[in-house]
Amino acid sequence: MKRVNLVSLLDQYNTDDRCRDALEAIRWPDGVACTRCGDTEVDEVPSRNQWRCRGCKYRFSVMAGTIMHRSHLPLRKWFLAI
Ligand SMILES: [Zn+2]
Repeated sequence: MKRVNLVSLLDQYNTDDRCRDALEAIRWPDGVACTRCGDTEVDEVPSRNQWRCRGCKYRFSVMAGTIMHRSHLPLRKWFLAI
């Protein structure tokens, strides 16, 4: 995992959309991959901030499988907490 300067990250990523982009870059530095089968052939689901795997049809978000997945907190609060 890449090292990230959190202070500059917080300056830059002050909206949930930008936080999501940053999380994707941190989680999938080589591109988005399915959280179930690992396939990198995925399509974005634009309205729902999710990805859909072409292989297994699984839908997932950047937070799937992380502690944040079950949270309803805005991503910005997680950034501050982390
Ligand atoms: Zn898959």
